[in-house]
Amino acid sequence: MSGPLQHKPTDFSFAVPPTLEQKHSGVPSRLMTDAREMKQKLMSTAKPANPSGVHERPRLPPGISREDFNRAIAELKGSLGENYVELNDKPLVDGWYMEHPNTHDAFHIVGQDELVASAVVYPGSTPDVQTIVRWANKHEIPIYPISMGRNVGYGGAAPRVPGSVVIDLGRRMNKIVNIDAENASCLLQPGVSYYRLYEEVKKRKLPLWIDCPDLGGGSVLGNACDRGVGYTPYGDHFGMHCGMEIVLPTGELLRTGMGAMPGPNGADNPTWQSFQNAYGPTSDGIFSQSNFGIVVQMGFWMMPETSHQSYMITFPREDDFPKIVDIIRPLAQQRVLGNVPQLRHVIQELSVTGFSKEHWFPGGGTNERRIPRDVIRKHASKMPCGDCSWVFYGTQYGDPAAIKTQLDIIKKAFSAIPGSRMLLPEDVPPEHYLHARVKVCSGEPVLRELDWLNWVPNAAHLDFSPISPTRGRDAEIVHGIVAKLYKKWGFDLFPTLCVAGREMHYIANILYDRASLDEKRRAAGLMRELIAEAAKEGYGEYRTHLLFADQVAGTYNWGNNALMRFNETLKDALDPNGILAPGRNGIWPKRFRGKGWEIMGDEVEKAQSGGAITPKI
Ligand code: ADP
Repeated sequence: MSGPLQHKPTDFSFAVPPTLEQKHSGVPSRLMTDAREMKQKLMSTAKPANPSGVHERPRLPPGISREDFNRAIAELKGSLGENYVELNDKPLVDGWYMEHPNTHDAFHIVGQDELVASAVVYPGSTPDVQTIVRWANKHEIPIYPISMGRNVGYGGAAPRVPGSVVIDLGRRMNKIVNIDAENASCLLQPGVSYYRLYEEVKKRKLPLWIDCPDLGGGSVLGNACDRGVGYTPYGDHFGMHCGMEIVLPTGELLRTGMGAMPGPNGADNPTWQSFQNAYGPTSDGIFSQSNFGIVVQMGFWMMPETSHQSYMITFPREDDFPKIVDIIRPLAQQRVLGNVPQLRHVIQELSVTGFSKEHWFPGGGTNERRIPRDVIRKHASKMPCGDCSWVFYGTQYGDPAAIKTQLDIIKKAFSAIPGSRMLLPEDVPPEHYLHARVKVCSGEPVLRELDWLNWVPNAAHLDFSPISPTRGRDAEIVHGIVAKLYKKWGFDLFPTLCVAGREMHYIANILYDRASLDEKRRAAGLMRELIAEAAKEGYGEYRTHLLFADQVAGTYNWGNNALMRFNETLKDALDPNGILAPGRNGIWPKRFRGKGWEIMGDEVEKAQSGGAITPKI
C-alpha cells in the first residue's frame, strides 16, 4: 500500500441524516459530509435481523393484559396529549448511530424484539415526567428513562424488562438552561448532546471547552448518569457534574447539592453549579448507574480553553506492554500527563482507517477467522506507526512553554523502552487518526470514531471494560485473560487502555455481525467468561451492557452481597411499587426480585437459541 488511503466515493442515494437544527439528536452542519460518508459505509453492509419479529407487539409489560394496557395508554394520552405517546408496534429499524432507534437495542445481542419498549412517551416538562411516574405507579407498569438513547454497546435505548414504557426525555426536554461563562459551568436538560453544547459554546464565542466521549451524539446528562468518560482533563463526566434535579420514583421532585437551598426570591441557588457536596450526605452518587430517580436537569463544570498538543508514541515489541504501564503511572500521578492517555494495540491503526478487515485481509473479512499478526505487521510497517506493537495517544495542556517541558519529560521517560518513537500531528498525513484525537482531546466532538465499526459487515459491538490498578503485572494478567478468551471464542482483539495514575480501564471491544446467530452466541459466551475470569483475579467492570448487569453486579459480592443488599434496601424504600427501570445495574425491586428475572450463567446464549430472557408469568 502506498500513498494516502482512499475510500470509495460516497453514495448519496442514502437519505440525508437530520441536522441539529432539525432535530435535537441531529448532525452539526460542519460534520454533514462525514456523516453521509459514515452512513453510506455502515448501511451498505446492513442486513435484516435474524430472527426478527418473534413476539407479538407491542410487547406487554409483565403481568398486564392487553386490555388493561390499552386502557392505561389511553389514559396517558389523555394526560400528555395524543402525539406524545407512541405505541411500539411498527417494524423495528436499527438505523445507525446518528439515526438511532428509541424502541430497542440497535446492537441487539439476543433477538431484535427481545429487549423492546411497549410504548415510548415524550414528556415536555418536569411536571409531565411526574405525571408519567404517577401513572406508572397507578398501573404498575415499568418505565425506563433515556436521555438520548445512544448508549451504544451498553444496551442503547432498550429497557431491561421487555414491554416497559420508555420515557424519551431528550426529544422535548433539550434546553441548554444556562451557560455561566464566569463560573465556567452549565445547566442542561437531558436532550442536549455534546454536538449541541459544543456548537452553542462556539456560537456564543465563549472561551470554554466541553469534554466529549469518542463520539458526540450522546446526551451530556445521560452519559454522566452512566458514568461515561472523555479525554480532556475534565474527562470524568460524573466527577465534573455539579448539582442535579431529579424526579423520584414516587413522583416527588428533589434537588441535590447547593440546589437544595432556595435562592433569593424563588431563584435557583446561586452556588448550585459551584459546589458539589453542600450539607449532609452526598446523595448524587446514588442517581448514577442506578434506578433510583429520573434526572431532569444537571449542572456541569466546563474547562477554560487553553493551548494543547496531541502526540503518539509507538513501541516496537508486544512484551513492552507492562513496562509502558509502569512508566505511565508516575507520569500520571505527578500530573505530567495532561489527560488520561490511551494505549492501543497496533491492530487499531488498521481499524481506525475505516477500511474493512476484508480490505486488509482479503478472503478473511468476517469473524470466521482472526486476522493473523503477520498480516497486521505487513500493513503497519507501511503506515506512519511503522512495524510496532503498541501505540500511546496523549495530549498536553497549558502554556506552550510548559507543554514543551512536559513533552521532553515524557519523551525521556519512554526512551527507557528501546525503539520508542514520538510522532506529532505534523508528522502524519491529514487523514491519520491522530488528527481526530487532537479534536476529541480538546473538546471538539467528531464522528470519526465510528470508523472501526466497518471492520466486519453489519457490525455491532459489546464492550468488556474491567478496572485494574495501574501496574505492569496487573496489566499483564488482564491482557492475558482477554487475549486467551478472544482466541478461544474467535474474535479479533482491539485493546484500548485508558491509563490513569492509580487505575486503568481496559476496554475490549467485541465486534459481531448482528444477523449472525453464531457470532452473537460467541460474543455472549466470550463476555460471560471474561467477566467471570477477571472477577476471579479481583478485576471488575466499571459499566456493562444491560444483559450482563446481573452477572457483573454479582461479582461485587463482598460481605455476603452487602452492597447489593444495601442497594435493594434503597430501591424498596424509594420505589415501593418497583416501576423505575427494574433490573438496571442488576438492582431488582421486591416485586421482581428472585422471580427468575436475573440473567446468570449462559442464559444470554440460551436465549439466542430460542430460550427466553423473561420468566414465565
Ligand atoms: P446517551 O447519552 O449515550 O445517549 P442514554 O440517554 O442512552 O445515553 O442514557 C444511558 C443510560 O443512562 C440509559 O439507558 C438510562 O438507564 C440512564 N439514563 C439516561 N438518562 C437518564 C436520566 N435522565 N435519568 C435517569 N437515568 C438516565
